Amino acid sequence: MSRRCSICGKKGLYGSQVSHSHHITKRRQFPNLRKIRTKVNGKIKAVLVCAKCLKANKVEIIITHPQVANSARGSDNKA
Ligand SMILES: [Zn+2]
Repeated sequence: MSRRCSICGKKGLYGSQVSHSHHITKRRQFPNLRKIRTKVNGKIKAVLVCAKCLKANKVEIIITHPQVANSARGSDNKA
């Protein structure tokens, strides 16, 4: 599984880290990827999706574990 969003195809970028003494080293920046379960061609699959696609509701998150599903629904019972 490469570090790339499966919805928009966003991937990491290359850059250089420049210190005060101008010593340059390679650096990489990756998108905010989340591993979620969603339906792909009718089958439930774990895919990497960036946080922007999640926020824009571009994917349907499937929660299969009953405890996780309960805590997601009853989040407002804590006063
Ligand atoms: Zn994305």
